[in-house]
Amino acid sequence: MNELRPVRALALAERAKRAAAVAGAHADDVDASGRFPQEALDAMRAELLLGLQIPVALGGEGASTAELAEVCSVIGQACAAAGMIFAMHQIKVSSLVAHGQGDAWHEGFMRRIAAEQLLLASATTEGGIGGNLRNSICAVEVADGICRLEKDATVISYAEAADAILVTSRAKADSAPSDQVMTVFLKGQYSLDKTHHWDTLGMRGTRSDGFLFKGEAPACQILPKPFAEIAAQSMLVYSHILWSGVWFGIAADAFARAQAFVKAAARKSPGSVPPGALRLAEASNLLQLVKSNILAALQQYEAAREDETRLSSMSFAVSMNNVKIASSQTILDIINHCLLVCGIMGYKNGTPYSLGRHLRDAHSAQLMISNDRILGNTSTLLLMNRQDTSLLG
Ligand SMILES: Cc1cc2nc3c(=O)[nH]c(=O)nc-3n(C[C@H](O)[C@H](O)[C@H](O)COP(=O)(O)OP(=O)(O)OC[C@H]3O[C@@H](n4cnc5c(N)ncnc54)[C@H](O)[C@@H]3O)c2cc1C
Repeated sequence: MNELRPVRALALAERAKRAAAVAGAHADDVDASGRFPQEALDAMRAELLLGLQIPVALGGEGASTAELAEVCSVIGQACAAAGMIFAMHQIKVSSLVAHGQGDAWHEGFMRRIAAEQLLLASATTEGGIGGNLRNSICAVEVADGICRLEKDATVISYAEAADAILVTSRAKADSAPSDQVMTVFLKGQYSLDKTHHWDTLGMRGTRSDGFLFKGEAPACQILPKPFAEIAAQSMLVYSHILWSGVWFGIAADAFARAQAFVKAAARKSPGSVPPGALRLAEASNLLQLVKSNILAALQQYEAAREDETRLSSMSFAVSMNNVKIASSQTILDIINHCLLVCGIMGYKNGTPYSLGRHLRDAHSAQLMISNDRILGNTSTLLLMNRQDTSLLG
């Protein structure tokens, strides 16, 4: 098994690169016309990337979190919107893998995801609640084995392209806002009436329109664990690591463009170091910081993943929050450095050094669960929890 692992890793890298090449070929058009990256999704399906994380016993490949983060980065380097769609899908799958095993319906659904390469979307954001995903206004109603849910879902990425949407709500009509569940609704079990049009600065291809969601499905499709546990033990950690993988990918591609610019300048004036080289070195330093931060988070998650107490601990939450804050802020500095290196050739669209799309896409990172909201959460945790200062992991 161990001997096969590098072979599979190589093959996975090749598959991700092939999907990324397709995504990259359409990235500027996806961005300019604000359309869903259908070609990229078709390529991910052709490479069987949507079922990567599903356990082998259920027809998937049991990919590790590091492997998923790498695919996010590789696709994100080519087209940030396509990378983010892959990441958001895998974040939903992570909740099924962590909390749906042992449950007949959810195991059957995981088999279908792997076999049919189904695409999953997420509806946590709600009108009146915003990005506070640990609160819901809407409530699921269960009667005679059927659950019904109506939600003012102000942002659902690629809702119309998805094969299923995982929706959070209060557990019952009389539940407190934080007593939540998450339910899988399959295409055909819901209607979507568009309420908000996604015409944004960046991440235009995620097509994160707003909808009035109305769903009706067998009650067994409600995930068996409270959403509080799902959020703490799988969703937040996968969100922060896989989003960071995509954001690292955006910054890495910006860096590659700036490096190509400096090399071209060096070729034009042999014997002298181009002025942008120093700034490129600074960008390299920052890129390595983001990478180290993600690698440390992956290591920490691998050490904690089998231990529910550790996963739900304050120090783990502080650490994962910090990963998100650091990646989402630092990529803006990196891309800005790259823009200064490339100058007008980076500022203009349609050059090999263009960075406008990167910069616009990267600006979504601070808002995707507002950094202020996350810092507010961390500051509360730090009133009770000591900062981790050990270098032993
Ligand atoms: C590309 C992209 C794709 C997305 N896809 C989806 C999706 O598929 N499904 C989905 O459900 N959502 C999705 N979202 C929504 C996202 O995850 C956030 O929930 C949403 O962007 C938050 O919206 P908001 O900024 O209006 O709300 P809020 O989080 O309410 O923030 C509004 C403002 O209030 C401030 N604020 C609010 N609360 C606090 C606090 N406690 N402490 C300090 N400041 C605070 C913040 O600084 C912020 O400026 C997506 C977002 C993006 C950018």
